[in-house]
Amino acid sequence: MMTEDQLKQHISQRAKEILPEMIAFRRHLHQFPELSFEEYNTSSFIKEFLKKNNVSFSDRWVRTGVVAEFGNLINYGSTVALRADIDALPIEEENDIPYKSKNIGVMHACGHDVHTTCLMGALLILNSINIEWQNRMIGIFQPGEEKLPGGAQLMIAEGLLEKYNPKAIFGLHVLPQMDAGYLGLCPGQSMASSDEIYITITGKGGHGAMPHLAIDPILISSKIISGIQEIVSRNADPMIPSVLSFGKINSVGGATNIIPQEVKIEGTFRTMDETWRQKAHEKIVEYITNTAQASGGTATIDIKKGYPCLVNSDSEFAYGEEKLKNYLSDKFVQRIPPRMTSEDFAYYSQAIPALFFRLGTGNKSLNKTSPVHTSTFDIDETALETGMGAMAYLAACKML
Ligand SMILES: [Zn+2]
Ligand SMILES: [Zn+2]
Repeated sequence: MMTEDQLKQHISQRAKEILPEMIAFRRHLHQFPELSFEEYNTSSFIKEFLKKNNVSFSDRWVRTGVVAEFGNLINYGSTVALRADIDALPIEEENDIPYKSKNIGVMHACGHDVHTTCLMGALLILNSINIEWQNRMIGIFQPGEEKLPGGAQLMIAEGLLEKYNPKAIFGLHVLPQMDAGYLGLCPGQSMASSDEIYITITGKGGHGAMPHLAIDPILISSKIISGIQEIVSRNADPMIPSVLSFGKINSVGGATNIIPQEVKIEGTFRTMDETWRQKAHEKIVEYITNTAQASGGTATIDIKKGYPCLVNSDSEFAYGEEKLKNYLSDKFVQRIPPRMTSEDFAYYSQAIPALFFRLGTGNKSLNKTSPVHTSTFDIDETALETGMGAMAYLAACKML
């Protein structure tokens, strides 16, 4: 039997020892990034590495997803899950580094190479501990985080949670604004839901000089765009963050002297509460329909639902904060505010107790400070030691 303290000693020492090997692993992924749902070589590379280290797995989840199986695989009491996303972005890398992307126009600009490496490193570390685990761990290498409908939702739809029945799930994401060595945790509602809104306003085209014979969809659109903000300012609970932004507006036809027949508007709605999210969708449709009708026009509204809100459960937040502080010391585990960006880890968090936390990867002196989704994003690679150790320790304490 091993105590949590002995586990911690072993894990932090092993994380240090395998860092060079895992840096090489990450650099390979970084050089050969693949777009969402096309991660075939990445998937093969992950499977080869698991085989080499005698870790069993199931594969072909959403074609390229891999689920490593570890610990007590026969008489396990429960299962804990670690998750990493494996896809890259359509960005041309502009870093001048020896491990620069070799796939033109594709780059690991959101750090998913780092997440994959942290999960693989955690498996390697746990694999080196010679004890009989009570419980099972699964390592989810998930495709397609960056592209709707998202790999998480698709893996769940393929039966991931029924097959393995994990009681808790942990995932991490790089945060270049935080220095390497630190972790950031946000309790409760941590990331926003994200929905796309497509509106078509139909009026009646006509001559600009004879508006009385037309129904002007431009005027209707302007009323909707300025008025609909009252859903955020008057209907949303002031304590629940909500954002409604329109990023595109086009008339179909129209000119200085022509009132067009139609106007198309596109926007995004984000919030931090699932109940309010559903209610807001109804309010948005109602407001647009009524405003168009009041001026004699009609509206069709299509709301494409994106990822849901990401909620860190009370139980796993408390567990994670305590264990990570124990692993790294209080100083290196900080509380951070919620973000209005979204992430498909949210689907797991809607289904089972979950904790999604941030891995500091920034370093001002190394000039590693570019935000994610930029062509100059890169990390201080010492963050890998922190990330894989943290993942390993969170899982190990659940498997004792
Ligand atoms: Zn991203
Ligand atoms: Zn990401």
